[in-house]
Amino acid sequence: MPPAHPFDDDKLKEECGVFGAVGVENAASVVALGLHALQHRGQEAGGIVTHDFAHGFSSARRFGYVRDNFTDAETMATLPGPIGIGHVRYSTAGSKGATQIRDVQPFFGEFSMGGAAIAHNGNITNALALRKELVERGSIFQSSSDSECIIHLMARSMGKKIPDRMEEALRKVEGAFSVVAMTRTKLIGCRDPLGVRPLVLGQLGDGWVLASETCALDIINATFIREIEPGEMVVASEKGVESHFPFRRAKSRFCIFEHVYFSRPDSILGGRSVYETRENIGRELAKENPVDADLVCPVPDSGTPAAIGYSLESGIPYAMGIIRNQYMGRTFIEPSESIRNMGVRLKLNVNRALVKGKRIILVDDSVVRGTTSRKIKEMILEAGAAEVHFRIASPPTAWPCFYGVDTPQREKLLAATMTEEEMRSHLGVDSLKFISLDGLYRAVGEANGRDPKAPAYCDACFSGEYPVKPADMVEQGFEMNTAAE
Ligand code: SF4
Repeated sequence: MPPAHPFDDDKLKEECGVFGAVGVENAASVVALGLHALQHRGQEAGGIVTHDFAHGFSSARRFGYVRDNFTDAETMATLPGPIGIGHVRYSTAGSKGATQIRDVQPFFGEFSMGGAAIAHNGNITNALALRKELVERGSIFQSSSDSECIIHLMARSMGKKIPDRMEEALRKVEGAFSVVAMTRTKLIGCRDPLGVRPLVLGQLGDGWVLASETCALDIINATFIREIEPGEMVVASEKGVESHFPFRRAKSRFCIFEHVYFSRPDSILGGRSVYETRENIGRELAKENPVDADLVCPVPDSGTPAAIGYSLESGIPYAMGIIRNQYMGRTFIEPSESIRNMGVRLKLNVNRALVKGKRIILVDDSVVRGTTSRKIKEMILEAGAAEVHFRIASPPTAWPCFYGVDTPQREKLLAATMTEEEMRSHLGVDSLKFISLDGLYRAVGEANGRDPKAPAYCDACFSGEYPVKPADMVEQGFEMNTAAE
């Protein structure tokens, strides 16, 4: 089961992972392996597009895991060629819970100078306005995905080459986008001007690869070259890599939550090990919020590095007080309501012998709705723990994300409607403390904490300060944080 956290319905979820390769033998297999390593970024569906000169463009898009769809020889034989891109998705804007195969990326467009396919991680915050304008001017959309706007904008461009058209299209797009695209011979990667979502460049033999995270380079034994810079477009081919900066230069506002939760702990972000950053977060959390206790336990698996950091800093022993069933599958819980109601117990079990009579510090990465935090607390107390203290490795999540992460509506976020003390009482724990925003910034390498005048990261889900105005949502009535404007 790929998700890193057992409570899929009570966590923010990254919506996509992208991968591309050019100049490699059997690109589809390389792409499939890359996507498999990125499966934590989206488990609902995946797709691969390839090209070779004998067959033209080929594509396969499927629901479900990469390992179940892109491993059999028959499917892979339908995807020939030395260039390919792929995408895994949770559920992008437009069709949550009711995805159709036409919404699964990569998307493909045929232009006068040849075809192009595109895959996108992020969210276009002016997609509704763009779509309306494009439809009024005659575009016929095939999907409900915001990413398809890019293909239609490219179709309307007068650029002579596909990369020129893509540049022009992306200049009209607002929001967060890490795009991987391909023509017949070129692999293109581009990050939005603020670089909200990640994208890295690697080398594999004489070929090049692009991926959302470095863990996808490791699986194919590619060499990490560098991150694509915010606002940069790279065009890779068998001749090498060209770099362009099509947008006005802006200060980077990378998503700070990638460090906390979304990225895999074995990835490197901004030159920093995600695992080590999470351990630092745990250390900061312990410095800011000490408590007398007997054991530090992670909520597995995503709370583990922060719990280790908390233990190292506080000197309180670390222990696996909760054990996750690694083999829990969705299908098992579907047939029976009574089994489904067992919920958390199916996925986690408390290590009774360890927690009985002890004062337990439970470290988790975030609190979103709080429903599962309550259940965990009940399980720990039932197992005989003397006290339960929650320590959270991110600040209170009080605002929705509009940049490619699935968040409940603001009213459903516990921190949007309750103070910290109210949340503690609601969860029924002895204490509840979150890392501060400054503490989180220190843990990711900003020694002086958050600079309120020019924050180094996007932290809108904590601060309500959106680095790109979510225009479509504001149009639909979303109220921005006026204090932050
Ligand atoms: S709002 Fe939060 S989750 Fe979304 S990009 Fe910003 S920091 Fe990341």
